[in-house]
Amino acid sequence: MSSVMTLQGPVSAEDLGIVDYHEHLCYDAPAWLLREDPDFSLNNPELSARELRDWVAAGGKTIVEMSAIDFGRNVRKVLQIAEKVPEAFIIVITGFNKPYYCDEAVWKTDEKELIKKCIQDIEKGIDGTEAKAGVVKGGTGYNTFNERDQKLLRIAAQVHLATGVPIITHTEAGTMALEQVEYLCSFGVAPHRICLSHMDRNPDFWLHSKIARMGVYLGYDCFGKIKYGPDEVRVSLLRRMVQAGLGHQILIGNDLGRASYWKHYGGGPGLEWLLNKFVPRLREEGFGQEVLDDLLIHNPRRFLTGERH
Ligand SMILES: [Zn+2]
Repeated sequence: MSSVMTLQGPVSAEDLGIVDYHEHLCYDAPAWLLREDPDFSLNNPELSARELRDWVAAGGKTIVEMSAIDFGRNVRKVLQIAEKVPEAFIIVITGFNKPYYCDEAVWKTDEKELIKKCIQDIEKGIDGTEAKAGVVKGGTGYNTFNERDQKLLRIAAQVHLATGVPIITHTEAGTMALEQVEYLCSFGVAPHRICLSHMDRNPDFWLHSKIARMGVYLGYDCFGKIKYGPDEVRVSLLRRMVQAGLGHQILIGNDLGRASYWKHYGGGPGLEWLLNKFVPRLREEGFGQEVLDDLLIHNPRRFLTGERH
């Protein structure tokens, strides 16, 4: 039986339960980023643990903590949360988010060195802890695919090929999706080991169906973020994908990477909202249990373990 690495050790596929494929629990954003946008202050393990407990009470089981090295990943803080909420399986990651967050060291350091560091995160542990990464991240900027964007994707590809952990990318507002897939696959990455995040920022059915048919996973994670448009757009896209027989290529998360998204930090919708409010809405709008189980349980399990559809 295949298993997935979490902060609680390897977890077998059938125990993963309801998965949130893209979340942020706690990180220390780089000082310059925090000055630019103080909302990137999701950094209190106690408050984050309370929020995670609410999510577990709503039925959540496995959560992917997507804070990458350049975004201020702080695995010690996430380990504190794991200790406070042992009911949740937490997957932490290695790799880089996008060029905008990376400091000069990333561009000056030899690619092989960065790949080695990421592989160590997966095989030995992160930052001197025993926490091992279970996913590698890479990403690109808004409509850019320059040498820096490509460097982050090449690192993700090589780390995946060396270790077998799946790749979850950052897309900026859903742009450069096909470019990312083509580029990653050019190094020998299999499509079903790739998931593209934030694709519902660019709810373009032609694009989504083309990518899903390749066997690549699409991450939808903007639910409840009305500043990006009403949920109706996301629900309609989901429905169209399911009706086209492509529902099995979609992963669901909420990417609540800012303090203002969290109830216990004084904001909303909160981590439990997706399960407590959005899933019932999908039911009310005609999504059957089988489809919901695919989105929440079976699709992420297949993606994380590398099982084929
Ligand atoms: Zn994110």
